[in-house]
Amino acid sequence: DQKTVIITGASSGVGLYAAKALIQKWGYHVVMACRNLDKTYRVAQELGFPSDSYTVLPIDLGSLGSVRYFVQAFRETKKPLDALLCNAAIYMPLLKEPLRSPEGYELTMTTNHLGHFLLCNLLLEDLQRSSSPEPRVVILGTVTHNPDELGGKIPPRPDLGNLEGFEAGFVEPHSMIDGKKFEPVKAYKDSKVCNVLTMRELHRRYHDSTGITFSSLYPGCVATTALFRNHYPLFQKLFPLFQKHITGGFVSEELAGERVADVVAAPEYNQSGSYWSWGNRQKKDRESFVQQVSPQARDDEKAEKMWDLSAQLVGLA
Ligand code: NDP
Repeated sequence: DQKTVIITGASSGVGLYAAKALIQKWGYHVVMACRNLDKTYRVAQELGFPSDSYTVLPIDLGSLGSVRYFVQAFRETKKPLDALLCNAAIYMPLLKEPLRSPEGYELTMTTNHLGHFLLCNLLLEDLQRSSSPEPRVVILGTVTHNPDELGGKIPPRPDLGNLEGFEAGFVEPHSMIDGKKFEPVKAYKDSKVCNVLTMRELHRRYHDSTGITFSSLYPGCVATTALFRNHYPLFQKLFPLFQKHITGGFVSEELAGERVADVVAAPEYNQSGSYWSWGNRQKKDRESFVQQVSPQARDDEKAEKMWDLSAQLVGLA
C-alpha cells in the first residue's frame, strides 16, 4: 500500500524538497499542508510532481481554528496517515512589535510551536490507525536552539524562563514565553526549543503505547531558503556566502530535503526520541548521528510544564 505523509509548509524550501524526495525516492503520497494554495500548485508543477502523487490542503498554522479545520478536511479525504512532518516556520528578525494570531498569541510561537503542537495531538489517533508498522512524526529543529553548539552561541539565546508568559495566558501584554520584552529572533529560537521539547514529550508519553516514532533533526544550514525573506537584503546576500566559505555549514535545499525525507522514511531512522544531525561543517557523504539537544531542550520538568501550558493555550486541556 502507498504511504501518506502530511508536510506542513511544503510550498517552499526544506518542506518542498522533502516532498520531492518523499514522492520520487520513497513513493509516498504527500499531503501538502500550506497557506498559499496557488503557490503550492505552481511549485509542485514546476518540480514535476505527478498529479496523483500529492494533495494540496489549506492550513494556516498561525491560527488554531485553521489547524482544526485542516484536520477535518484531511479526514474527509479518507486517506490513511503514516507520517506527519512538522516543517512550516516563520522567522521575522526585523519586527519591532509582535504580530498576533486570531487567539491573540504572539505569531512566531503560534506558527512554529502551538499550531504544530495542536496538529500533532489531533493527528495522533489517525497515525495510530496507520497500517504501517512504524508510523512517524518528525519535527524540524535547528542548531540555533542549542547554545552549546557554535551555531547557537550568537545572541539572543533562547530562554524559556519558567514559562511565565505562557502561564499568564500569552495574550497582550505578553509576547514571549518567559514573559519578558518582545525579541523576534529569540521568539524564533524559543519556538524551536519548544519543537524539540514537544518531540521528546510526545516520545515519553506515547511511543510505548502507540508504536509511533517521534524524532527531530537539524538538516544543516539551508541559507538560501525563503526563511530569511524578512531579513535585510544585504544579509540575504551575504549569509549563504558566509555559510559556504567561512563556516562550511551550507547545505542546498535539495540535500536538506533528502535528509528530512530519510528521517521520515528510511528504516535506519526508526529511533524514537532522537534528534538527528549531520554536524555543522558539511563534508561529502557525511553520515548522520544522534545528537544531544540543549540543556533546556532535555529538561524533563520543563518539557512537562511546556506541554501542560501549551495544551491549555490550544484548548486541549
Ligand atoms: P521557508 O521559509 O522556505 O519555508 C517555510 C514554509 O512554511 C513555507 O512553505 C511557508 O509557506 C510555510 N509557512 C509559514 N508560515 C505558515 C503558516 N502560518 N501556515 C502554513 N504554512 C506556513 O523556510 P525553510 O524551508 O528554511 O524552513 C523549514 C523548516 O526548516 C523550519 O522549521 C525551519 O526552522 C527549519 N530549519 C531551517 C534552516 C535553514 O537554514 N533554512 C536550518 C534549520 C532548520 P509560504 O510558502 O506560503 O511562505
